[in-house]
Amino acid sequence: MLKPIAGRVAVVTGGSRGIGRGIARTLARNGVKVLIAARGEETARGVVDEIRSAGGTAEMVVADVSVPDDADRIANAAVEHFGGIDILCSNAGVFPPKKLRDLTAAEIDEVFNINLRGTMLVVKACLPALEKSGHGRVILTSSITGPVTGYPGWSHYGASKAGQLGFMRTAAMEVAAAGITVNAVLPGNIKTEGLGDMGPDYERSMAAAVPLKRLGTVDDVANVVLFLASDEAAYVTGVAIVVDGGQILPESLEAIDA
Ligand code: NAP
Repeated sequence: MLKPIAGRVAVVTGGSRGIGRGIARTLARNGVKVLIAARGEETARGVVDEIRSAGGTAEMVVADVSVPDDADRIANAAVEHFGGIDILCSNAGVFPPKKLRDLTAAEIDEVFNINLRGTMLVVKACLPALEKSGHGRVILTSSITGPVTGYPGWSHYGASKAGQLGFMRTAAMEVAAAGITVNAVLPGNIKTEGLGDMGPDYERSMAAAVPLKRLGTVDDVANVVLFLASDEAAYVTGVAIVVDGGQILPESLEAIDA
């Protein structure tokens, strides 16, 4: 059993849906006060209500992580509502598929700006509060796509997700003296609203490619985030934890059933 982290404060970007919502609910269930940041007000409000109905503490801020002023507003909102930040889950991300041949510069920019630049902006904005925490935790939601695997249509996405890990390694060194750790989770295929947009055929083929024979749940990812947020993970920094049901293991589809 992990030492309780009840009473700590977490910022969860992209906490209004999917993996971020799972992280927010899991942290809140463990007594963490959660600030949810997303662009859409209604969905974010829904998660705040859900957490409060379950007895947890949550607030929200409407913000776009790719906008520097918004990144600052996210950090300020957490400090105003809860007095500080102990845990930052930089999870907001987009994955619109498009083959390299057809990608426009604007489409590349959008994915980089949200997934990579947005991560850097929010981490930077939250740093002063994380430094005051004494046990600051930064947990990035990267992906297996990019850092470990490739998938046609996601060259820009994969580059942004691999970029997050490059950022993580130097950031982890820069903030270590303040007792802050910076780590990443690399989800495989997790059942979320965003993944649902890829269609049922995609979901079926992905589930078949997973040795554990199912898509991941948001709780599968959130449980690893909870560990990385804990005191027990204080000596873990600069690492990427794959949460994919073994999807990156097989050398061929046949190998799964061999
Ligand atoms: P999702 O269901 O589409 O949810 C994305 C969340 O991010 C929403 O809350 C969305 O809210 C928010 N968001 C998107 N752009 C934003 C922006 N510019 N500023 C603030 N918030 C923004 O996606 P998901 O599947 O949960 O994915 C979440 C993260 O996990 C992403 O970083 C993704 O790359 C990563 N991931 C997912 C999978 C998977 O299988 N699902 C696998 C590997 C990695 P608004 O649209 O209202 O802003």
